[in-house]
Amino acid sequence: MDGGNIPITMKSKVKIGPAVEDGLDVSARPFKILVVDDSPIDRKLLEQALSQEQYTVLSAKSGQEAIQLFAEHRPPLVITDWLMPDLTGIELCRRIRLEFQESYTYIIILTAMTEKDKLVKGLGAGADDYLTKPFHANELLARVGVGRRIADLHRQIEAKSRVLEELALTDAMTGLLNRRGIELWAGRELSAAARHDFPLWAVMADMVNFKSVNDTYGHDAGDAVLKGFAEILKTNTRSADICGRIGGEEFLIVLTHTNRDGATLAIERIREKFLAQRFRFRGQDVVVTASFGIAGHSRHQSQNFNRLLTQADAALYSAKQLGRNRVELAATEINPVESNQGPSQ
Ligand SMILES: [Mg+2]
Repeated sequence: MDGGNIPITMKSKVKIGPAVEDGLDVSARPFKILVVDDSPIDRKLLEQALSQEQYTVLSAKSGQEAIQLFAEHRPPLVITDWLMPDLTGIELCRRIRLEFQESYTYIIILTAMTEKDKLVKGLGAGADDYLTKPFHANELLARVGVGRRIADLHRQIEAKSRVLEELALTDAMTGLLNRRGIELWAGRELSAAARHDFPLWAVMADMVNFKSVNDTYGHDAGDAVLKGFAEILKTNTRSADICGRIGGEEFLIVLTHTNRDGATLAIERIREKFLAQRFRFRGQDVVVTASFGIAGHSRHQSQNFNRLLTQADAALYSAKQLGRNRVELAATEINPVESNQGPSQ
């Protein structure tokens, strides 16, 4: 399937943990302000006024320097002079809005001009507020305070949408990717495999006696089995591989950069680990097993992940027909891409 335009920056083994949640509390971080003015006196006045509060002030004496500092530090708030020798405050404003769109920046323009037409032009260029020189220190602090509230709010919303985006692609039970997550990721990886000519294997896995565990010991037992299997997948695949839960007791693993033997070995190892795992329900040791179907992507085939899944599913069906708790490779008409790379670690 086509990955579309949705940016995926998440890792395959997603953990929604404290790190992400910390991102929501933006108030605890030092608040950076970039001050831009070609006049050393005005820069000093701004720095002095801002030093009354807990701000980290960065100072630039030209538009170019401001762009560099901005790119390096990404301050949430910028106070810029209007007239400077290289870039005007208006141009700086436009460039920040155009070039740094991933996060919102609150921009205050500082000007000696009082003509309303010009101020309107400044706000039109993307400034959030303006202040006329000579400014009153307390008014500056009050306006910066407003800017900080708005910038913080933007940061919180941005952090929340990142969390939601991750949650939308995560299986809550196991912490693995869900079907949508794995399809988005795999669609991209498949294009990369075709472009750079590396092997890619899709593996469908299904538990053999899961239903009977659920029926006999209850849903909590079933959940423990799913989590146990997910844990084995996480610890027995490389960070470049991805694992997802795509349905009730159905899992999907995508392995790359390994040849046929490597992929088979890696999956055999997972099968054996799962077989060796003892679950204890109501005082009884319970063993659950899984069947696996592997299909390899060939560079001669179309880059269609669903087609690969169909092949892996057919191999899984064979594994079940041939006695379950086993690994089967799809019978493909063309040999999948082989490489010299060693087995999966
Ligand atoms: Mg100036």
